[in-house]
Amino acid sequence: MEFKSVQKETVVLNPAQEMALRRIPSEIRSDPLTGRTARICHFMALNWNKPDFIALVAGTEKNCPFCPERIMSVTPAFPPEILPEGRMRLGDMLLFPNIAPYDALGAVATLGSRHYLPMTEIGAERITRGFVLAKAFFQRIAEIGHPEGVYFIVNWNYMPPAGSSLIHPHLQVFATASAPNLMRQELEAAEAYSAKHGTCYWDDLIRAEMDAKVRFLGRTGRTAWMSAFAPMGVVGDVLAVTEGVHTTLDLTDADLSDIALGLTRVMAAYDRMGIYSFNMNFFTAAAGQDHSRFHLLFSPRTFFNQTLATPDIGALRNLFNETLCMAYPEEINAMIKAEF
Ligand SMILES: [Zn+2]
Repeated sequence: MEFKSVQKETVVLNPAQEMALRRIPSEIRSDPLTGRTARICHFMALNWNKPDFIALVAGTEKNCPFCPERIMSVTPAFPPEILPEGRMRLGDMLLFPNIAPYDALGAVATLGSRHYLPMTEIGAERITRGFVLAKAFFQRIAEIGHPEGVYFIVNWNYMPPAGSSLIHPHLQVFATASAPNLMRQELEAAEAYSAKHGTCYWDDLIRAEMDAKVRFLGRTGRTAWMSAFAPMGVVGDVLAVTEGVHTTLDLTDADLSDIALGLTRVMAAYDRMGIYSFNMNFFTAAAGQDHSRFHLLFSPRTFFNQTLATPDIGALRNLFNETLCMAYPEEINAMIKAEF
């Protein structure tokens, strides 16, 4: 397990100190699995002002398709060969086809009837139920032998800075035979790693991070939590790996509950920095790809300029897929670790 990094230094003349030399460090890290590079640079204090949520949310409930008074009349239903009941319900949560699908078989699951849920009020129990509902849908897709029933993925864009067009909290739930780029690259790299070393990359990573301590966070059941060495998010990424599990369908209800609990701890920590938006993706193998382990990434989202609503993704990330993180992941880890 190699945690490779290249240290760099920029030298400028500092106008705030009579043009004295100022040295600015930066670092380029390589992901130990894929070799994908991430820049640690653009350093700033991890402290944002949250917006006025009452003003932000005000009025958005009037046309919200996911609010209980509208949801049954505006959301589509699955055809009977996929789901005879059309939509799936679990308590106040509803799963239905995504009207803006990006694959043949996409669903959306609301996280309940409340239109706006502050990040720290989402709660582990609600997240668990959302995941249980998603898994019930995946099991149905597997049972009917649907050709897209290969990779079972849950994505979460929470709040507009993370790409959500709606305030009402919901999960993207989809099954696909076409693995998304990074997931496919990871699966291929993990297979090559297993062939070369005779061990599982993800098991080795957990061991290496537990030994190194500086990025390890803790465990919830079979799931190990850590800060990513080469994060994609500008405020770092949190990685959770579930030991002994290859695919989303292998996750037990206890695993889903443990994962939800860990997520609420991560949310609580980022909330203290003023973060109120995040992406979360499941990374799953297909059945039989035993060289991989189920894992997820939690990536906080913010702005480069909050006043102008400048997104935290610019040309570097959008067109080069080169990422930058505005603090050392080990320093961010220290700010999250208290929750574990
Ligand atoms: Zn709503």
